[in-house]
Amino acid sequence: IFLFLIACSANDSNNDKSMEEMKLQTDEEKVYVGFAIDTLKEDRWYRDKEFVEKKVTELGGNIKTLAANGNQDVQIEQVKLLINEGIDVLIIVPSNSEAASKATKLAQESGVKVIAYDKLILGTPLDYYVSFDNEKVGEIQAQIVLDQIDEGNFAYIGGSETDNNAHLVRDGAMSILQPLIDSGKINLVYDEFTKDWSKDIAEENINKFLSSNTVTIDGIVTAYDGLAEGALAALGEQAGHIPISGQDAELNAIKRIIDGTQTGTVYKPIEALANQASILAMDIASGKDISTNATVNNGNMDVPTILLEPVQVTKENINETIIESGHYTEEEVYN
Ligand code: BGC
Repeated sequence: IFLFLIACSANDSNNDKSMEEMKLQTDEEKVYVGFAIDTLKEDRWYRDKEFVEKKVTELGGNIKTLAANGNQDVQIEQVKLLINEGIDVLIIVPSNSEAASKATKLAQESGVKVIAYDKLILGTPLDYYVSFDNEKVGEIQAQIVLDQIDEGNFAYIGGSETDNNAHLVRDGAMSILQPLIDSGKINLVYDEFTKDWSKDIAEENINKFLSSNTVTIDGIVTAYDGLAEGALAALGEQAGHIPISGQDAELNAIKRIIDGTQTGTVYKPIEALANQASILAMDIASGKDISTNATVNNGNMDVPTILLEPVQVTKENINETIIESGHYTEEEVYN
C-alpha cells in the first residue's frame, strides 16, 4: 500500500505518464494476474487460492491474491488496487453477485479482461465465467436425500441469497423435488436462504424452526456442508436419523459421512477449476484463441463459460472420489 501511494502521488505530479508506465510489478515481461477472492473463511477457498497461484506461476505469470473477508466494499477497493498495480487479467470470486459489476466495469475500463470465478457476476458485460455446473450440484444434493427417503416433511437449507450460486443450486434441487411436492409426497416445511452461508446462522434458524413448530423433519437438503453441520448441531440426538446432504466435501463432512450423521456431499475438483481459470487468464493475456464449453446468461449477455462436472459422494464411493483424487489422504479421512 505504501508503494502504491508513492506511485499515485508520483502519477499526480506527472500526468503524462500513463498508468501502464507506473506498473508496480517487479517483472514487466511477465503476465500479471490479479485474483480477487471473496473470502478465506470457508475451507475450500484456501485450495482455490493455492491452486490458482501455483498454476499461474507454473505457466510463467505473476499473481497477487487479495481476499475481501466477505465484504463487497473491501473487494472493490482491492480490485482498484490490483488495477493500479497494472494487472493484465482479473480473476474474481465476487463477494456479491450484483455489486461486483462495479469492480468488473472498473477493470474493463482499464483494459483488464475479467473472469468470474465459481460465482457469476450479474447485470454487466463480462468477459468469461468459469465454474461447476451449479444446477447439477443442486440436483445431486436432492438425489442424495431422495435415495434414502422420498416422502414426508422436507427442509431446504439454502446458501447466501446474494450469491448467484445459491439460487442455481436451489433451482437444481427444486427441479428434482418439485414433482414430489406437487404430487403431495413431499411437504416442504422449511425453505430459507442462509445469510453468508453461515453454519451458525443455519443452526440458529433450524433451532428456531424446531422450537416454534410441532412438525417432524424427515429429510434435509442443504446447499453446503457448513449448513449441514449447523443443522445437525440443532438436531442434537436426531442427527444420524434424518438423511442430509451438503456440498464441498469438507473434511468434517467426509468424517460425518463415515460416522453416518451426514448422508452425502458434492465434491467439486477445485484444482481442475483453478487450472482452467489460470490457463484462461494466461491465454487471454497472450492473445491466444479461447475455447469455452457453454454460455450462461447473466442478465446482460450470454457469457462465454467453462463449466465443470460436480461429483456425488456417499459412504460407498469416498475412496474412489475423495481419496483417489488426492482431495484428502486416507489418513486424514479415517483418523
Ligand atoms: C460455492 C460453494 C461454497 C459456497 C460458500 C458457493 O458459491 O460454489 O462451493 O461452498 O459458495 O462459500
